[in-house]
Amino acid sequence: MAPHEIRLIGDPVLRKRTTEVTDVTGALARLADDMFATMHEALGIGLAAPQIGVQKRLFVYDHGDGPGVVINPRIEESDGEWVFEEGCLSVPGLSWEITRPKRIHMVGIDLDGNDVSLEVDELEARLFQHELDHLDGILLVDHLDDDQQRAARKTLREMTLERPTGGGGLRLL
Ligand code: ZN
Repeated sequence: MAPHEIRLIGDPVLRKRTTEVTDVTGALARLADDMFATMHEALGIGLAAPQIGVQKRLFVYDHGDGPGVVINPRIEESDGEWVFEEGCLSVPGLSWEITRPKRIHMVGIDLDGNDVSLEVDELEARLFQHELDHLDGILLVDHLDDDQQRAARKTLREMTLERPTGGGGLRLL
C-alpha cells in the first residue's frame, strides 16, 4: 500500500467526469489499497479515485460501517436536509457550511463484484454525496453561493502565494 499525492483544486483531473468500472479486477483492489493508504495518511474519512488522478468511478471511506469501497455508486433516493461544515482533502485548510440531503440510499458494487445497498444518514450520507460529486468533477466550492465563491477564490489565491515552492502548477478556481 503506497500513499499517493492528493490532487488539489485547480488540477484539471478533479473536473472531469470519471468512467464506469466495467471489470472488478485485482488491479482495482490494489488501487483501492493505495487509496486507503492515501486517505489514512491524510487523516481523511473518504477519498475518490480522481483525487489521486485516476478517472474511475470508485471511492473509499472509513467511517460508520466502513472501511469500505463503493464502485459505480449511484444515489437511488435522498431526503431531508442537513447543514454540515464540509471540508475536502483536495481543498486543504478550508471548509464551508453546506446544505445537502440528510439521508440517502446509495447502491453500487464492491471489490468482489457484489451489489451493495447502503442506507445512511448525516455524516456518512454527506461523505458519500461528497465522494460521488468527485466522480462527476464537482467540488464542494460548487455548492457555495456567488458571494461565498468569490471569497473562496480570494482565499485560495492568497493561500497559493504562501506556498513555499510556487504551488507546483496549482491553478485557482
Ligand atoms: Zn473531497
